[in-house]
Parts: sequence; structure tokens; C-alpha cells
Amino acid sequence: MKVCVSCQTDVGGKRAVPIKEDRIIRTIRSVKRSLGVAQNNELYVCEACLPKHNERRKSFEKTMLFASVFAGLMLVIILVAPVLSGRIDPWAIISGFIVAGFILALPIFKYAPAAESLPAPKPNVMPPPVPPVPPVPMEPQIEAKKKKKSKK
Ligand SMILES: [Zn+2]
Repeated sequence: MKVCVSCQTDVGGKRAVPIKEDRIIRTIRSVKRSLGVAQNNELYVCEACLPKHNERRKSFEKTMLFASVFAGLMLVIILVAPVLSGRIDPWAIISGFIVAGFILALPIFKYAPAAESLPAPKPNVMPPPVPPVPPVPMEPQIEAKKKKKSKK
């Protein structure tokens, strides 16, 4: 069955955008398969849900970016702190890594899969004006006519 990921209804006969199979979807599928609850639905976003879905996707991407920056900062602190304090505390390092991993995992709760062909964002820059087409020289045409005449 072809199912909309947003409203969970059958998209058969409706205009819908297919969902990209990314690592998270593949993981969910393999977990479901191992649990024996796989439905093997083809995932889509129907036209009506697309604007809402795009917003969710954008917010997910922002959260993901924020989380990876934050986790990266955490790791830098974990690695720099022992150098500054002059002593290595293995528990601080381990707990730091756990917190960083937890931060990275958080966006999963906001997860929204990417649609296959999202409408391209409109470029802010105006395209350069098309230069006026130079007048087509008449000579080749005249020559062609002459050639035709000469053939006759
Ligand atoms: Zn829908």
C-alpha cells in the first residue's frame, strides 16, 4: 500500500511525492521486520500534507544542525578540559561522550523524512536580463535563395 507519512492514509489516486529511503527509515524497517510487524508500505507525502511536511522537515534539519554543533562543542570541551586542568578524569570524559551522544539522538524525536523531489527553493538573486537578440543578417538567406535559383 502507498501511504502518506503525515496523514497515514492511502495515497492511491492522489498526487503524492515519494519519500527518500534514508538510514533512519531503513533502520526502522529492519527493526519492524525483526519484530515481525513490517507493513512494507511505500512511503509518500500527499499533496495536501506537503507544505506541513516541508515545515516539519526544515525544523528537523535545523534541530539536527543545532544538535551536531552542540555535540561537537561538547566533545571539544571534553578533549580540552583535561589539557587545561592537567589531569585526566575518565568518568568526566565518559559521561561527556554519553551526553554528546544523547544530544545527537534527540532530533530523532522530531524526525521527518526527506521527500524525493521537494520543490526547489526560489533563488533570491534575479537572473541577469536576457540580452536583446541581434538582428539576423539577411545575407545567408539571400545566398541560399541564389543557390536554389542556380540549381534550377
Ligand atoms: Zn497526507
